Amino acid sequence: MYKIDFNNLDEWIREKRIKRVLIQAPLGLRPQIPLVVRYLKERNIEAIISTGKCWGACDIAYWEAEAIGADGIVHMGHAKFANYDEIPVFYVECRLADPNPLLEMVDRVSEVIGEGKIVGIGATIQWVEFLDLFAEKLRERGIRVLTGKRSFRTPYRGQVVGCDYTCIWSVNDKIDCSLIIGSRFHGIGASLTTPKPVYVIDPELKKIREISSEVRELLKCRYAWIETFRNSRKIGVLIGVKPGQRKIHTAYRMKNILEECGKEVDLLTVDELDADQLDNLPYEGYVNTACPRLSIEDQMKFRTPLLLPSEALIACGKLKWENTIYSRRYLIS
Ligand code: SF4
Repeated sequence: MYKIDFNNLDEWIREKRIKRVLIQAPLGLRPQIPLVVRYLKERNIEAIISTGKCWGACDIAYWEAEAIGADGIVHMGHAKFANYDEIPVFYVECRLADPNPLLEMVDRVSEVIGEGKIVGIGATIQWVEFLDLFAEKLRERGIRVLTGKRSFRTPYRGQVVGCDYTCIWSVNDKIDCSLIIGSRFHGIGASLTTPKPVYVIDPELKKIREISSEVRELLKCRYAWIETFRNSRKIGVLIGVKPGQRKIHTAYRMKNILEECGKEVDLLTVDELDADQLDNLPYEGYVNTACPRLSIEDQMKFRTPLLLPSEALIACGKLKWENTIYSRRYLIS
């Protein structure tokens, strides 16, 4: 089902003089790990498998690799998005091998969206390779398709990750709606950052749906948490320690702004965020400068507000709610 592409792996092993590798993969791709292990063993490379969580290309297990003396990491399921290699990393992107589940949805998509519409399109790394083919089929059915720019977090044109929808933002003025190929998670992210309707196609579940009404409800909850935060005094500003989630400057900037607003602020580090860690600390609210999707997806697990930096700025009167939601600045830390 997935293409496990070992192109250039031999060269990487030779060039970096790799003897021991830590293999890292998100949950859904763990059944593919034995293929990588076998490939490495055949080349006399010792392979050790990480059981830690693996959320994105922001989450490279450098510390784990260092702890076991690995001289390289094979990271599966994500495309490289930042150049912070403390230990050499080889990315196995695990794209899907078969475009048919997506292509079989063309008629359904054209029915739902309607002829004559201009659509911005984006896909997760697993589907990104089939974007042009899919766009071509939609064009044949009278739908105009625009694929926006890449960014430093999305190295492929049309690619989306949970915190970056540049391919949609960059064409936002020209489109009627957008179409995200992936899951609800990516649809929600896109919809939080664009005022236009967002449709999500999940080819594996054979579903297409408009996600904007769910996002409207979600935003009502976010507004309520902002109000709670406004009345809170003791605030913790969270600094992510995962390599691609470290926003130390943002955290200090937020601390200064919040103090000017009369809050009492401490800085805290966070690796894996869970409710027990925060709920036992003496803070009435948090600003999360680590992965922005934690605030969106996990808020209900916490008893205090877990605001995005943009939301904390709204609470302090530095940004306006109506200018921030449905814009790219909403998710940016
Ligand atoms: S959404 Fe979160 S986990 Fe995903 S790439 Fe962005 S920071 Fe990393």
